[in-house]
Amino acid sequence: MINIAIDGPAGAGKSTVAKAVAKELNIVYLDTGAMYRATAYNAIKNGIDVNDEEKVKEMLETLTMDVMYEDGVQQIVVNGFNTTPYLREHYMSKAASDISAHPCVRYKMVDIQRELAKTYDLVLDGRDIGTFVLPDANCKIFLVASPEERARRRVAENKLKGQESDYNTVLEDIKKRDYNDSHRKVAPLKKADDAIELETTTMSIDEVVATVIKIVKEKIQ
Ligand code: C5P
Repeated sequence: MINIAIDGPAGAGKSTVAKAVAKELNIVYLDTGAMYRATAYNAIKNGIDVNDEEKVKEMLETLTMDVMYEDGVQQIVVNGFNTTPYLREHYMSKAASDISAHPCVRYKMVDIQRELAKTYDLVLDGRDIGTFVLPDANCKIFLVASPEERARRRVAENKLKGQESDYNTVLEDIKKRDYNDSHRKVAPLKKADDAIELETTTMSIDEVVATVIKIVKEKIQ
């Protein structure tokens, strides 16, 4: 199986790059962030505080998550309900980051991710793919960029989707998530020793995509 890990902090361009790599290699793209978002969404929908570890643990006992693809677009179905349209709301980012810190949540998501990686050639983006989920991935990329540049990219991306967002709010959100994601106990955001780090602050997203595709092809061929 081919497994390609693309990790890095929020807004580093992981999903754009991962989608392009998946298209180029004609393999499946797994957005692991969406899985944490869907778990957080399910908690909020059921009135469960995402920071209440005991309640979240109870919720997980009966939670089922199916990852499927419709016209090539990933859909996350939780307990039979398609959560996909609700996952990119602004408040979902922090909720996903908070819920993802609970070990019980991480272990459940990681089990699903490892199962999928055994079945399909995948490019996965996340925070812990190269360090924890798939330490034997064929190719590991770690994307970084300054928080200011990542906030600028996120605002521009939102604008393209017709959503206005305030730069300072987005920047604060990114900084908070960076802190949260790199300070949790289990599988924090971290570059794997054997990952190739790409500092993308001064690169255009097209340059980042082209560079990563070149690295991946060299690694897997
Ligand atoms: O990548 P995305 O912004 O959708 O991820 C949402 C949140 O899910 C992240 O801030 C992070 O806390 C969590 N996450 C994670 N591990 C992953 C992917 C995402 O902890 N592999």
